[in-house]
Amino acid sequence: STSTTTSVFETRESQVRSYCREWPAVFTSAQGVYQYAEDGSRYIDFFSGAGALNYGHNHPELKRHLIDYLAGDGVTHSLDTYTVAKREFLETFEEVVLAPRGLDYVVQFPGPTGTNSVETALKIARKCTGRQDVVSFTNAFHGMTLGSLAVTGNSMKRAGAGTPLYHSSTAPYDDYFDGETPDFMWLERTWSDSGSGLDLPAAVIVETVQGEGGLKAARGVWLRELAALCRRHDVLLIVDDVQAGCGRTGRFFSFEEAGIVPDIVCLSKSISGYGLPMSLTLMRRDLDQWEPGEHNGTFRGHNPAFVTATAALRTFWTDGAIEQNVAARAHQLRDGLQRIIARSDGATLRGRGLLAGVAFEDVEVAGRIQAAAFERGLLVETSGPSGEVVKVMPALTITEAEMAEGLEILVDAASAVLR
Ligand code: PMP
Repeated sequence: STSTTTSVFETRESQVRSYCREWPAVFTSAQGVYQYAEDGSRYIDFFSGAGALNYGHNHPELKRHLIDYLAGDGVTHSLDTYTVAKREFLETFEEVVLAPRGLDYVVQFPGPTGTNSVETALKIARKCTGRQDVVSFTNAFHGMTLGSLAVTGNSMKRAGAGTPLYHSSTAPYDDYFDGETPDFMWLERTWSDSGSGLDLPAAVIVETVQGEGGLKAARGVWLRELAALCRRHDVLLIVDDVQAGCGRTGRFFSFEEAGIVPDIVCLSKSISGYGLPMSLTLMRRDLDQWEPGEHNGTFRGHNPAFVTATAALRTFWTDGAIEQNVAARAHQLRDGLQRIIARSDGATLRGRGLLAGVAFEDVEVAGRIQAAAFERGLLVETSGPSGEVVKVMPALTITEAEMAEGLEILVDAASAVLR
């Protein structure tokens, strides 16, 4: 017999469970931007699986490819053996993503999740430079395994277990930069001063918009200065595009707008297009210095994910429609968020594209708005070191009417809290 309660989760599942505490429903099905619970409630999804569902739930075109593949007994798991599904993905990725942008990255499949991609990037950087340190930024989030955790600038997430990488530094993120010219003097001086005994780092790892860290968005000029600084000192630049990539901020890669070309790029979350686990590490061709088998993993060949990933690139990235929709919906979203900001002293707009939200001075407010939104049928998350930001991250395919519907609920929830 199936229970309709949440009791087995409470008695059997670890205390670490988190999102379910904010959204105490048992979900059954989902389509597009709507998600349904077993009690019959319908929710608008302004969360998109933390960025893993950029094309919404069960997109019909992607679903058709997946079902056809399974119906034909397509190979599901394949380690890193050659498969037709992987070949089609690689060819499509080159044709649709890399070639049009003049990029020549070698593609590595490092495992199923974002943190696998980050670990791989860190390992490549150390291996290729022979240096150990990595510079990351305040409030950065790069994943929960120990290497990624070591460059994650959040003491709560470290849970007493993660230590910073030996000698590595945490630098202030763009949000502290207020002027015309970014000031990297501190890094520049440290890196130039070989006499001090401080080694040059292997790499700098950065998010162009801090997804978990409170939707702080780096300005283009800051990213360009950072890239130039890295180049001058032969330090590798890793852009973690796990959350901000795959069109979330408008272009396929979040760094395109700034006009920089990182040495290594981490992609995951929405790359499969269907919420299936998949990640990529993209690296400059000369950084592909692996010996065969030097970086292994069982789940490097999730063929159903390759199938939906290929279908997603073909469906959404061969014309400009998705970029246009992100631009238009982002505008609509900002207008909606301004209505909330107008009701709260000191509240500010954060983010870029469809990774945007509102930061509140009173850190309790965002969580209360999240709860009020849930009661009204909207799934929306909080972000930031104290959970002080209401974070809106709908599917990139969301229509004007769906966005309006979600925003009405969000504004109503915020009004109830801010009354
Ligand atoms: N990097 C960034 C920027 C992320 O947002 C996340 C996940 N929130 C990760 C890495 C880790 O990805 P995963 O949870 O799939 O390991």
